[in-house]
Amino acid sequence: MAVLDHISSQEAMALENKYGAQNYHPLPVVLSRGEGVYVWDVEGKKYYDFLSAYSSVNQGHCHPKIVDAMTHQAQTLTLTSRAFYNDMLGKYEKYVAQYFGFDKVLPINTGAEAVETALKVCRKWAYEVKGIDTNKAKIIVCKNNFHGRTTTIISFSNDPVARKNFGPYTEGFIKIEYDNIQALEDVLAQNPNVAGFLVEPIQGEAGVYVPSEGYLAKAKDLCETYNVLFIADEVQTGIARTGRMLAVDHENVKPDILVLGKALSGGVYPVSAVLANNEIMNVIRPGNHGSTYGGNPIAAAVAIAALEVVKQEGLTENAEDLGVLFRSKLNKYIENSNIVKLVRGKGLLNAIVINDHEDSDTAWNICLALRDNGLLAKPTHGNIIRFAPPLVMTEDQLLDCVNIIISTLNQFEK
Ligand SMILES: *Cc1c(COP(=O)(O)O)cnc(C)c1O
Repeated sequence: MAVLDHISSQEAMALENKYGAQNYHPLPVVLSRGEGVYVWDVEGKKYYDFLSAYSSVNQGHCHPKIVDAMTHQAQTLTLTSRAFYNDMLGKYEKYVAQYFGFDKVLPINTGAEAVETALKVCRKWAYEVKGIDTNKAKIIVCKNNFHGRTTTIISFSNDPVARKNFGPYTEGFIKIEYDNIQALEDVLAQNPNVAGFLVEPIQGEAGVYVPSEGYLAKAKDLCETYNVLFIADEVQTGIARTGRMLAVDHENVKPDILVLGKALSGGVYPVSAVLANNEIMNVIRPGNHGSTYGGNPIAAAVAIAALEVVKQEGLTENAEDLGVLFRSKLNKYIENSNIVKLVRGKGLLNAIVINDHEDSDTAWNICLALRDNGLLAKPTHGNIIRFAPPLVMTEDQLLDCVNIIISTLNQFEK
């Protein structure tokens, strides 16, 4: 068989299982095509995508405008490295900086790299601007965080699966409880060496955990009081997902450092970014940081197109409206449900919590049944299912999906 011959689902899964490192546990479905809110498997069955590649495909699969921008740039100039200037990067930097209201951007590729970049910028700022003694800077992080998979980032994770046997761990992080403003104030008051507070405005991987109203605004105020940088990891929550351009916009918070990834490219190419104003970003000098592909011409062209689509198609407003509708429908269902305890989220980043213990396989089994009924979602934990469809969904499509979800849940009611 030639390498690119058509294969069945069974064959495709067998290949991944045999030749790929087993670092994921995918739902058994093999996709070969996507368009808008839909994906198709190799046998031609159509599904609603209710994960959007962890909120990367906010603009919908294979958005023609983004794909056109990528194809055109791919035929013109793909990579120069930053050894030379190119005619796309500056245009993109101006566009993205003004789009989010910052002086400067540092372009990079993946979410984890962007988080690493933010941590490095924060530490350098701590020594050169704030005046913390060499190697003494601390960055506060939250329990149950997810910021990526590099050795430094997993050093401050508390997920044993992500951490165990990957030590020794990077020092310099203080972990506090999420959504606990007192815990933040205590650490800030006791520790003059704190340089930054790294936080997800909604904890996505933890199970779409939405903090109490006012938490982010109060945390930002505390950071200002103690001259500490508020670093928002909006890799998953940003770019219209939660019904605002950024999730921090719900509380009118302006981060000192903003971290973006995932939907910055609409899911067609790895593009991430760190944004900050000059008094922070100017600590980065030639040679301090970089990546061969960071800020390449394809990434620049793709990200401009992806961000234009968000505004032109009103995805922020659509996410807000459909999110309200989605939660109201599911809340209504929950009133008489034994299997679902609650629905939570903002915009089109939502989750349901199943009435079962954390390591049960109920959420997984529900996702298998959802798949059979034409909708793809994935558990974040044994008892939590995240629902994050592309933001280009229409109200009719959303109501169709609500019907699929409710009739599937009904199969599991005791
Ligand atoms: C996905 C994610 C990351 C990591 O992004 P990668 O592109 O997978 O490295 C970081 N932070 C948050 C909040 C994420 O959801």
